[in-house]
Amino acid sequence: MTEELDIREILKCVRCGTCRSVCPVFRELGWESTSARGRLMVAGHLLDGGLPDEAALASLRSCTTCAICREICPAEVDSPRLIEGARRELSSRGLLSEAQLKLKTRIQATGNSLGEARDRLAWMTEKEVPDRAEAVYFAGCLNSYRYPQVAAKTLSIIKPLGVTVLKNERCCGSPLLRTGIAPDTIDHNLEQIRATGAETVITGCAGCYTTLKKDYPPEFEVLSLSEFLEEHISDLKLEPLDITVTYHDPCHMGRHNRIFDPPRRVIEAICNLEEMKGNREEARCCGGGGGVRSGYPDLSLRMARRRLEDLPSNVETIVTTCPLCVKNLSDAGGKAIDLIDLVAQALPEHARGSGSSPGH
Ligand code: SF4
Ligand code: SF4
Repeated sequence: MTEELDIREILKCVRCGTCRSVCPVFRELGWESTSARGRLMVAGHLLDGGLPDEAALASLRSCTTCAICREICPAEVDSPRLIEGARRELSSRGLLSEAQLKLKTRIQATGNSLGEARDRLAWMTEKEVPDRAEAVYFAGCLNSYRYPQVAAKTLSIIKPLGVTVLKNERCCGSPLLRTGIAPDTIDHNLEQIRATGAETVITGCAGCYTTLKKDYPPEFEVLSLSEFLEEHISDLKLEPLDITVTYHDPCHMGRHNRIFDPPRRVIEAICNLEEMKGNREEARCCGGGGGVRSGYPDLSLRMARRRLEDLPSNVETIVTTCPLCVKNLSDAGGKAIDLIDLVAQALPEHARGSGSSPGH
């Protein structure tokens, strides 16, 4: 059994059902097996050596690992960690879904979660980056391939502050780890990071952030892009914009890593910020995480639409700090942008390079 799947932890659940009031999946599907309480019962059954049926597999696979249940659980049960442990148990028994098997094959074959054969650094408008630097920008699969303009804007803005990139970055490992599979890309990335001599790794992806921080050895500081931007806000000489935006907390930036204030401070240095109905610890998940977007796309989209109901009235633009949230909220009809898009719009005219043009 995996270390995280400890029966004492599962037995801490007093079956009060409080988690049902917040679980975004339970809200959409309404089955007991899709609340944290139900998932813990399935995990307990696995620990007893039980064989999971289709409903039990779906119970464990449909959790977004958003952790809002952990936030309010009176018994302080760490359900997402236990659910991930149960997923590892399934993986060790060879019980992988078709979507998980495809993901694993894609990453093994191409080094990225999207199965792209293209050059991962095609987004770089500035080809010259130092081999060694104080900090590394870890772009991640989604920004490298789906939002290359976000990666380009980010590098053009932070490169003058002593930042380089990895010449041969691969998937951080998050999509596999969150679905219970051990990735083989971590050692490769580690070697690359070590070769740069960097003491800090910066990323603008919530999944990469959690993984670099919690699943890589603690050899370097990990900063979210919002923390780095906040630290250097005076260097950027941003010009205020007369607009109002809202901010969506990605689960793996907010609840999982308590990065609530830095993105808000960067936004407030630029324009007005109006909060969403659920924010900070109470922010509802966009529905994209934990492998749910690839495994259950319709459910994922339903959760994203539900999140859009939390928008303040008269505010359209949702700023966030994770490409998966940008994608899921945009696919649900929202106007979601990355924090770096907002920063790029607020740069003084002369500082706007080719990678930092507004819009995306
Ligand atoms: S809130 Fe906590 S204790 Fe209550 S049912 Fe959910 S996981 Fe169990
Ligand atoms: S982590 Fe989120 S999706 Fe998973 S059981 Fe808890 S509230 Fe539901």
